[in-house]
Amino acid sequence: MVVAYNAASAAQQTNNPFDTALSQYDRAVHYLDLPAGVIEFLRYPRREFSVNFPVKRDDGRIEMFTGYRVHHNTVLGPSKGGIRYSLAVDLDEVRALAMWMTWKCALAGIPYGGAKGGVVVDPKTLSPRELEALTRRYAAELIPLMSPHSDIPAPDMGTNPQVMAWIMDTYSMTVGYSVPAVVTGKPLNIGGSQGRNEATGRGVIICMVEALKRWGNVRPEDIRLVVQGFGNVGANAASYAHSLGFKIVGISDITGGVYNANGLDVPLMRNFVAEHGDLNGYAGGDIVTNDELLTLPCDVLIPAAMEGQITGKNAAQIQARMIVEGANGPTTPDGDDILNERGIYVVPDILANGGGVVVSYFEWVQDLQAFFWDAEEVYRQLQRAMVRSYYATESVAEEYNVDMRTASQILAIRRVADAVITRGIYP
Ligand code: NAD
Repeated sequence: MVVAYNAASAAQQTNNPFDTALSQYDRAVHYLDLPAGVIEFLRYPRREFSVNFPVKRDDGRIEMFTGYRVHHNTVLGPSKGGIRYSLAVDLDEVRALAMWMTWKCALAGIPYGGAKGGVVVDPKTLSPRELEALTRRYAAELIPLMSPHSDIPAPDMGTNPQVMAWIMDTYSMTVGYSVPAVVTGKPLNIGGSQGRNEATGRGVIICMVEALKRWGNVRPEDIRLVVQGFGNVGANAASYAHSLGFKIVGISDITGGVYNANGLDVPLMRNFVAEHGDLNGYAGGDIVTNDELLTLPCDVLIPAAMEGQITGKNAAQIQARMIVEGANGPTTPDGDDILNERGIYVVPDILANGGGVVVSYFEWVQDLQAFFWDAEEVYRQLQRAMVRSYYATESVAEEYNVDMRTASQILAIRRVADAVITRGIYP
């Protein structure tokens, strides 16, 4: 028996990411003339894998952890998606993130389906040895699902290139030979790609630069940005924007935020975080809470932390004229409605943060061919891919007279549905 997912409208009331993902899907799919069965098919995750596994702590205790891996859809190719380590991980979050990966890969025009994984853990509470043990055991549990031709993980919140290295090593030791292409976001010295670490944040800014052309000939120094989250996506977006001359006036991480109307010194803040672990105690501006950060005066707001940040409760107070989503699912459907009513232009997550999976795809291609590109080539191809997706989405938005989120979903769903129809339903 399958679970009936008919709770999409619940996203209006709850902050459940899977309800949000389904509600966005329902809003977009009704513009497409698809068979009812195909519409239903694409609402379901294909496979959901839950694992409970032991890890030996440094003091000798054995502790149980829970992890997930969900493959939403694999019609266009092997499933692709990050692995998240966070206490907030649950099955609905992983389902939502897997579904968004399906749309993101289809929108970027890369031959992947969508997946996501997660372990319920705060990685900061583990020693390096415990983190390695947890990662290796979780990776070993995923081996029936994972391979360069079936499912290819990557980093997400709470994981990093070192974690990817342990996954690659665990898989390789199990099959008996080295398989760099089983995971992306690896360190460079074991088959990682130039530019992968920077790719998501850089792609966010590439999209923002294209979107800003709507406002005519703007000068970067006149555009004020606020960035929520200062990890892989937020810090790389802020750094790239800073290098292009944009003024970053607000930045936060989980410990809170800083605001400086004259512009923040992003390189200094990155050094501070490298030294202290987070932004707590950084003195280069006024201290603000994460709630206050989202409603600061600015031109562009870049949520780059987590889901459910812009909601029916705070969307009316947002002062930015444009939102470029670095995080996955940062805006709930009721938040979206308010932003749309207020004419705030939203560049949606599956478009704006697609640079990460695009360069992951380049990494996988390089690993399979054992032929590596220089950073210049990676960035050139990334720029091309992001600009192409941006304008493809914009033209669907014009064609259907819809917002950019709905347009991005229409385009992605159409590509996946067309592939379903071409392949046919097995058997
Ligand atoms: P990360 O773990 O590197 O960084 C997360 C950052 O957000 C940290 O600075 C953390 O302190 C901050 N944060 C966490 N909770 C917060 C909160 N409640 N308020 C404010 N800040 C908070 O993670 P990441 O890889 O940068 O991922 C961030 C988002 O981008 C996630 O939604 C992720 O799914 C999405 N994303 C990541 C990638 C990638 O390549 N890493 C690609 C696409 C999308």
